[in-house]
Amino acid sequence: MRILVTGGAGFIGSALCNQLIEADHEVRVIDDLSAGEKDRLDPRVQLTRGDVADIPKLWRLLLDVDCVYHLAARVSVPESIKYPRDYNHVNVGGTVSVMEAMRDAGVRRVVLASSGAVYGQQAQSTLHEDLIPDPDSPYAVSKLAAETYVRTIGTLWGIETVALRIFNAYGPHQQLPPSHPPVIPRFLRSALTGASVVIYGDGHQTRDFVYLDDIVDALVSASTAPDVDRQVINVGSGQPTSLLELIDTIGAISGREIEPIHNMQQSAGVRSMCADLNRAHELLNFTPKIGLREGLERTIQLDERFH
Ligand code: NAD
Repeated sequence: MRILVTGGAGFIGSALCNQLIEADHEVRVIDDLSAGEKDRLDPRVQLTRGDVADIPKLWRLLLDVDCVYHLAARVSVPESIKYPRDYNHVNVGGTVSVMEAMRDAGVRRVVLASSGAVYGQQAQSTLHEDLIPDPDSPYAVSKLAAETYVRTIGTLWGIETVALRIFNAYGPHQQLPPSHPPVIPRFLRSALTGASVVIYGDGHQTRDFVYLDDIVDALVSASTAPDVDRQVINVGSGQPTSLLELIDTIGAISGREIEPIHNMQQSAGVRSMCADLNRAHELLNFTPKIGLREGLERTIQLDERFH
């Protein structure tokens, strides 16, 4: 297939592109490199630096493309609370631009990277796609809006659409921005350098940590699976892990006794999150393969920042 990946130089996008290239697809990327890095990509991937709202550029890149993976987005929840307009502009406006350009170019299918964050706080901890989303940050709102735009526009214009609600992704080379880095690389860096590991809240909040390679498997399936049109599908590990359990596992791997410091001033986020994977199993034949301990070991081994 000929495939365009928006945001393809990022953490998840680059792993996806490199896997698609290995499977002999032609892979094009549009990425403004605001968070992505060219060096992550196999040299056979055709990278164009540009903004997802640049429709003329998209027209050129979409020529004879069979499937678009739309991953380009701003991805920090705390940053979105400070700058909601930016998140609306890139995550919502950018998505609508990609859909318009796809309509003009006659592309068959789009796979959207959405987020488990759209659920917000729910009464139950296992989250099924039919629950009514209750987003609690501009980031989560922007992802839900992107899902709705993609599905509605796709129905109106005859484009097949599928949105994958990815839970807490981790793996080698995940971004570690100075403010509010994601929890796993932050804990790993602190634990492996002997710095203090700081938990927001009591540490009993649970998350569904899903390893990068499993996410890539789900994304790859979504481009050709037969019955996914207009679906939203969870992609996670299906296992809830509390932050205290995460720290124990990192301690066991690194052979260090970690005494976390609790920062009760910072919001601990939602109480519990775990993906219900029945739909992913049924429609994408998806079963996560990498458990937390193995995923953390691979992350440490493959990411030179942790050596
Ligand atoms: P990332 O920041 O590594 O990747 C996003 C990429 O988009 C970056 O390479 C960035 O340079 C690019 N980008 C940003 N704005 C752009 C613009 N206007 N035009 C073109 N490119 C632009 O983040 P990631 O973790 O790889 O996330 C990829 C996708 O998966 C995002 O849509 C994100 O919302 C979604 N997602 C990620 C997670 C996670 O835990 N990492 C969880 C759920 C969903």
